[in-house]
Amino acid sequence: MKKTKIIATVGPVTESEEQLIALYKAWVNIIRFNFSHANYEVARAIMGRIRKLNSEGKTNLSTLLDTKGPEIRTGDLKSKIQFEKGDVIKIYTDISKFSNDSMSLFCDYISLVEDVNIGQIIRIDSGLFDVEVVEKTSDYIRVIALNSCLIGSRRHVNLPGVKLRLPGITGQDKKDVLFSIEEGYDFIAMSFVRNCSNVEELRNLLSEHNASHIKIISKIENQEGIENLDEIIEASDGVMVARGDLGIEVPIEKLPVYQLEIVKKSMTQGKFVIVATHLLETMIENPFPTRAEVSDIFNCVRQCTDCTMLSGETTIGKYPIKTVEMMTAVINEAEANMIYEHKDFSDEGLCTRDIEKKHLIKNALITSESINARVVLIFTKSGRLARFAAAFRPNKDVYAFTMNESSVRYMNALFGIRPMLLGNWTPNLGENLDNAIALLKEKNILSVGDRVIAVNDIQKEGKEIPVMEIITIE
Ligand code: PEP
Repeated sequence: MKKTKIIATVGPVTESEEQLIALYKAWVNIIRFNFSHANYEVARAIMGRIRKLNSEGKTNLSTLLDTKGPEIRTGDLKSKIQFEKGDVIKIYTDISKFSNDSMSLFCDYISLVEDVNIGQIIRIDSGLFDVEVVEKTSDYIRVIALNSCLIGSRRHVNLPGVKLRLPGITGQDKKDVLFSIEEGYDFIAMSFVRNCSNVEELRNLLSEHNASHIKIISKIENQEGIENLDEIIEASDGVMVARGDLGIEVPIEKLPVYQLEIVKKSMTQGKFVIVATHLLETMIENPFPTRAEVSDIFNCVRQCTDCTMLSGETTIGKYPIKTVEMMTAVINEAEANMIYEHKDFSDEGLCTRDIEKKHLIKNALITSESINARVVLIFTKSGRLARFAAAFRPNKDVYAFTMNESSVRYMNALFGIRPMLLGNWTPNLGENLDNAIALLKEKNILSVGDRVIAVNDIQKEGKEIPVMEIITIE
């Protein structure tokens, strides 16, 4: 069973009950809804399907709402414009002054004229059309086209290296966050996070609506996000290497360097990390991946990411299930000969009891390898202990038992953790251990003679004391 988790974006080719079950069977753990495109009616119907399948025990899928974020776009055009290399184009930010002729564009970032300098590169249509600023006037900027391109209405605009004066959460994002609370999503991926205040703003919004259980994933997708990486990771529950936009915002050759840095820094802060975009892009059209894509997934696993993510491959692709099966096969192969090191991570923000538990779980993982235990069992209400176990990158499977469904869904994102709902959870902690072992025997995961390591709390003089036990199954 693979340890690296898979996130699949849902879309027209995967939104039916049958396809959701097929995704799950191919080892998808989390379903992502991309709110750059989604509409409430469709999202609500899919969420209903997932809730139903989860409650029937047919799937155990978590859900993630990915916000649109404070994006910048060009405006509507009368018709598409074919720009040629060397064309000089005016870009306006005041719609009343925009002439909508064949040599002008509108941009909805009102501070554009002020914020760009002569020589600045502006990337239009997700990096397909690059222009360079040659003149600034009070009404518009004049740019020169660096390549030829056919441009339609409302194209993405990236301003690499510019410190954008945009809100952390836009009005639309706020509506989408309220929708995510209403519909019971498990994760919110926040687009274009630039600093920790952006994350804190979202955390406050969730808390105001009694939704602090929703985990926040910060998408790192521009230079400012990279510069403030440490504080962003600290403020977040997890982070995403959003390679799509990051690859436009920073020099593309730097992308693998930043990926490595984001993965490593997340691990040193004990937070989960997702690598996203273009992992199996060519399988949107083809039944077989490229060699480079296979190597990319292999490297993600070797770098110890918690999750890999699929986008277009599972929304509009011709082979969505085959793509997930391919990803699972490559992950399995990459993990097969991997021996994970249990690197320590920061105590920042942890109380004394958590620090003790962190070290206890680390030693439990080491002991599980020394005595070749079958599995490690942990008991956790919020999933925090599982977060510690995952951050140490366990070599043995860790079964994490909880009484909370929301904790099960959170733990679906964590490396090497197999979350399980213990329906008959009791305040008697020893009894929970017996019930957990009985459940794993019933599922043929454990059999007589197996040794397991359990990290649990015991009651002593009215206090809960964390302990590690070595148990031989009878
Ligand atoms: C990305 O940029 O890689 C990403 C995952 O975000 P989006 O799909 O919203 O562009």
